[in-house]
Amino acid sequence: MTEASGAAGAGRFAPSPSADLHIGNLRTAVLAWLFARSTGRRFLLRVEDLDDRTFPDVAARQLADLAAIGISWDEPPQYQRAHADRYDAVVEQLLTAGMAYECYCSRREILAAPRAPHAPEGAYPGTCRELDDAQRASRRAATGRPPALRLRADRDEFTVTDLLHGSYTGVVDDFVLRRFDGVPAYNLAVVVDDGGSGVDQVVRGDDLLSSAPRQAYLAALLGLPAPVYAHVPLALNAEGKRLAKRDGAVGLAEIGVPTALRQIADSLGYTAADLPGMLAEFDPARLPRQPWIFRPA
Ligand code: GLU
Repeated sequence: MTEASGAAGAGRFAPSPSADLHIGNLRTAVLAWLFARSTGRRFLLRVEDLDDRTFPDVAARQLADLAAIGISWDEPPQYQRAHADRYDAVVEQLLTAGMAYECYCSRREILAAPRAPHAPEGAYPGTCRELDDAQRASRRAATGRPPALRLRADRDEFTVTDLLHGSYTGVVDDFVLRRFDGVPAYNLAVVVDDGGSGVDQVVRGDDLLSSAPRQAYLAALLGLPAPVYAHVPLALNAEGKRLAKRDGAVGLAEIGVPTALRQIADSLGYTAADLPGMLAEFDPARLPRQPWIFRPA
């Protein structure tokens, strides 16, 4: 796929409404918008509100802040909580095909279990993969809670193409599709929603680069095309840690729209401090490859 051929496709920004967007999140949203618009794509917003620690008032402020800095979107924002049926349908499809299985392990058991020599910490060691009916019944009785559902992966790595990182190969394990509390897992929801919305360009923070191989692999299993990825550097505080609310005046309410846009433009090397102007200057080849160290004005 060439980047110029995105006319029918879409890019997106998908915030989790757990806390107000900070300047680093806004900068990632601007980049997602610039990548989409510069390639003729539609731009979509998706509120990733599956988790209990997400809040409707935060989502409303996130959308208002995105609009305030000039980000436009082409369809009403989608809310993952409204999509339970589509996640359930995909989980059923995978179960029926024998590509998902019940898992009774606690996090502690997973960390304590022996794992393959090259498997990273936290990768699922496959404990529940081959249980028979009797073993499942006894594990279910012993844990006293419903099982999680995991993907039965038939490989341990997968390669994606990233516009900033090139070819990137990362771990695929039997990752969770549905948590024991019934909540669809992030990796499943992202893939189902991007596929369902025709998203073919995923621009987001590079903290999620290591999730891309799992997601692209699941997309391939579901017969969905792999999106083009661009995992962009995060904003860090003066100590080099991920920018967070405790770093002080990092939200739009404190910074104000003109200063926020100026700071984002400066961080990307643009003279224009509005989105149409940044779009005219946008060149993915010239994007900074290093984290942005944010210092309050
Ligand atoms: N909701 C995720 C976050 O806020 C982003 C998911 C994605 O872009 O795939 O970190």
